[in-house]
Amino acid sequence: MIELKGLHKSYITGTNKLHVLKGLDMLIEQGELVSIMGSSGSGKSTLLNVLGILDSYDQGFYKLNNTLMSNLSEKKAAQYRNNMLGFVFQSFNLISFKNAMENVALPLYYQGVSRKKRNSIALEYLEKMGLKDWAEHMPNELSGGQKQRVAIARAMISKPKVILADEPTGALDTKTSLEVMDLFREINKDGITMIIVTHEKDISEKTDRIIHLRDGIIESEFISKN
Ligand code: ADP
Ligand code: MG
Repeated sequence: MIELKGLHKSYITGTNKLHVLKGLDMLIEQGELVSIMGSSGSGKSTLLNVLGILDSYDQGFYKLNNTLMSNLSEKKAAQYRNNMLGFVFQSFNLISFKNAMENVALPLYYQGVSRKKRNSIALEYLEKMGLKDWAEHMPNELSGGQKQRVAIARAMISKPKVILADEPTGALDTKTSLEVMDLFREINKDGITMIIVTHEKDISEKTDRIIHLRDGIIESEFISKN
């Protein structure tokens, strides 16, 4: 599903060049539940942005679903993102002036689905997340865990093949974090590939395979015991 070979990426700011990803090889099969673990600054978000076709790379290759992701027009990149990928972030990224249902429905708005239809589908997804009764609530009326479940429902509504989550439990307490990880495991059972970036060991141990990133290289890899 995801294949990287000799992937390099640097950031250039002014005359400074920061070499962040230094030759990554990675193979993630469809339906895997993988974590990418590493300390702050190790390049986790940079890698996830490349995987999410939100940023380019300099050398090597990235294939998503056997298609080479390079030199894509913004239109093509958006097409792959919309059809293949769902995103979940540490800070939830909900729209503060829209209620839970409208937030979940947003990807369908961009696909031109009518308001009535998209809201009814959004309600189904909220129900799956155990949040049906919260549909009319605004983000600031929801707990952190509830906000993240709304964000997960929003990621799921366009039926992605892969979910990319950047520190999805970073703003949550331990108990809520573990609940969110249980939810990811449930979603993964339906065959959706999940890639979860974290710097927390106990979070990574909730996934099936742990890839350790250190200073822009893959230092080691483990199959999780759990
Ligand atoms: P992580 O997510 O593991 O904490 P990042 O991928 O965010 O690490 O960052 C890796 C390195 O790249 C850090 O030194 C960071 O400061 C730098 N960096 C990240 N994004 C940019 C950017 N857009 N421009 C320049 N440097 C960046
Ligand atoms: Mg990061």
